Amino acid sequence: MVKLTVNMDDTQNFGIHIVGHEWAIDLLKRQEKNGRVPQSLLITGPPNIGKSSVARFFAQYLGCRGENRPCGDCLSCRKVISGNHPDIRVLDDDGEPLKIDQIRALQHELSLSPLEGRYRVALLCNFERATTSAANALLKTLEEPTSSVVMILTASNPGDLLATIVSRCQVLTLRPLPDAEIYDALQNRWQATLEQAELLAQLAAGRLGWAVRALADENFVERRAQRFDDLLDLLRMHRAERLAFAQEMSRDVAALKETLTLWLSIWRDLLLLQSDSQTKIVNLDWQDALQNIAHRSDVSPIKEMIIRLITALVNLERNVNPRLNLEVVLLKLPLYTDIR
Ligand SMILES: [Zn+2]
Repeated sequence: MVKLTVNMDDTQNFGIHIVGHEWAIDLLKRQEKNGRVPQSLLITGPPNIGKSSVARFFAQYLGCRGENRPCGDCLSCRKVISGNHPDIRVLDDDGEPLKIDQIRALQHELSLSPLEGRYRVALLCNFERATTSAANALLKTLEEPTSSVVMILTASNPGDLLATIVSRCQVLTLRPLPDAEIYDALQNRWQATLEQAELLAQLAAGRLGWAVRALADENFVERRAQRFDDLLDLLRMHRAERLAFAQEMSRDVAALKETLTLWLSIWRDLLLLQSDSQTKIVNLDWQDALQNIAHRSDVSPIKEMIIRLITALVNLERNVNPRLNLEVVLLKLPLYTDIR
């Protein structure tokens, strides 16, 4: 694949276009036109599906003074796009827990009148990372809304938030985008080649943000191929080699999660191939190699691997020891000494 320079700002920053989620945008615009701007909004959906893009778009829409909102051209829009709008505060996910001090500082800011427009907008990304005390502090703001304040939270799963927070918010649940929409956007907006667009649209499972990140990641294709090779190697390995592999591989937990996620997609593909399903597999570029494995396997070990991989990924989120977690997966992998 050709390496490309991708403008990540398109997904990270405010822009005047948004791909997909039209129903959510239309709903928010309608509410605003009817004088019912939601004061507390919770946008949910899988990681990198576009939650914060929708939130940022709405923030820009609220502040825009142009004709066709958001125009992208007025002073307010330009400040939003450059990330310098004084009435908009974004607490991006920096991988750290969101602490009570940050919520208190935000609350102080929100208690002041907007400087430029009608609203102060606060966007709290991935609110599941908030500590309990931070979440409880925010609850106060949600319980006593101010008409000039719009709070927007995002979270993958509303079940991870305090029920009292969810119940005070208007919840918008974003759904995966169709592959074709991701394919078109990658080609037309991010200048992906045909080959890149096809592969990433397949792998993205409806998450444009994921596809754009993968496109920008120079080593993505190489890493993906390496992880597939690792899996093929492991299928040929005996117990001791697999344990050694687990020890090595569990050192980098982020990489381990990415590997297990890829393997999960592979085993799901194997299930489709084994059962001669008409559904298109995700890792289409590996069809022949996967077919080869599927043909020598029964349905039940494939299903068991899928369950084990899902369990391992859930365990990693719960901070279960990565090595032990991985060992369980690797020791139960089928043994195909004659593969390839
Ligand atoms: Zn504007």
